[in-house]
Amino acid sequence: MDVRIGNGYDIHRLGRDRRLILGGVCIEHELGLVGHSDADVLTHAIMDAMLGALSLGDIGHYFPPTDPQWEGADSLKLLTQVHRLVRDRGWRVINIDSTVVAERPKLKPHIEAMKRALGAALSIERDRIGVKATTNEGLGPTGREEGIAAYAVVLLAKG
Ligand code: MG
Repeated sequence: MDVRIGNGYDIHRLGRDRRLILGGVCIEHELGLVGHSDADVLTHAIMDAMLGALSLGDIGHYFPPTDPQWEGADSLKLLTQVHRLVRDRGWRVINIDSTVVAERPKLKPHIEAMKRALGAALSIERDRIGVKATTNEGLGPTGREEGIAAYAVVLLAKG
């Protein structure tokens, strides 16, 4: 079986008057993520992992932050576009694993909804998507609640 692995990383700043969207789920919090699109850091990390697996560059290449058409974009829609690139080349997602690094809010109550949203966007079963959440123990920019980061790994198979 021909398989490929990719990894992705992203971080966005937290700021006022922004929505907090992670894995396509809008989460109640006094701060949201700042970015050109909806700044869904988890979905961005997954997209980069998928692109990386096939050596297709990164999301900045396909959805440049200088392009007004991506302003406020729903990242799940961008994920669907990246998935189409993958499918068009004859690859499918075996599984995804990911970690969100956020000091607050508690993400555990939202994990299942994220898996559901991501699974629906990719048309894959929820048990093929790992979403984990951790704090950074108060250390660094994520620990100081200056931002939220996400890591993702994706395994693809041909056919
Ligand atoms: Mg991003």
